[in-house]
Amino acid sequence: MLARFVLAFVLVGLAAAQGVLNENLRWRINGVRRMAYSFDRNYPQQARQTVMRAVARWNQVLGDCLPLQPRQANDRDYINVFNGQGCFSMIGRVGRAQDLSLSLSNCVYQGTVIHEFLHAAGLIHTQKRPDRDNYITMNWGNIAQSWQSQFTKETRGIGKYTEYDIYSIMHYPYRHPSWSIGGRPGFTSKIPNVNYNRIGTGNDFAESDVVAIRKMYNCPMRKFNAIVNHNNNRNGAKSGRPIACSNV
Ligand SMILES: [Zn+2]
Repeated sequence: MLARFVLAFVLVGLAAAQGVLNENLRWRINGVRRMAYSFDRNYPQQARQTVMRAVARWNQVLGDCLPLQPRQANDRDYINVFNGQGCFSMIGRVGRAQDLSLSLSNCVYQGTVIHEFLHAAGLIHTQKRPDRDNYITMNWGNIAQSWQSQFTKETRGIGKYTEYDIYSIMHYPYRHPSWSIGGRPGFTSKIPNVNYNRIGTGNDFAESDVVAIRKMYNCPMRKFNAIVNHNNNRNGAKSGRPIACSNV
């Protein structure tokens, strides 16, 4: 599920810490800063509704900067949302149709949809940033071997747009049934008083995600209002679903 796209990523010359530097990987369609998407024709209506609600949230937050719009007839480059094996996306604009998988079995949640579109916009996983060792300690022995590449640092072709944010929607959860051995944590935080249940489980952008996109795309900064969370627990933690994305 993950090995399949590794080659493609290497071929487009990306690598990542936070966001792609290569201007060609940033979205512009017919000279306009925007992203286009369409659904695979087999993608069911109910899942489309969830995706479109997440897209509406995207446009509420980033519509003035990098709107995400249904593909129009003359949009050569676009994102094709389909029911693939897991949740994954290419990083940045690859050119022409590019697949973004939102499996019906575990990816159709607002947080996951936003996460995958942020990959498509050019962001990489936070725990792959080259400065991550200042913030987390890796527990390699708790991570299934086939997933360890998801935790290797990326050093080439990327820009740093914000400080490390362990609550970024692009950060992995500290454990996940897909990859943590015995449910043990794949990393521990060096940041004091971190709420582990909040890491990688958000159902909305973190402010740092919005700032990163605005900087990458040279958009003006705007005040960011987090959504009122429907599932707040006592610690104010977002309790979305742990994101299981297998990119890069
Ligand atoms: Zn991801």
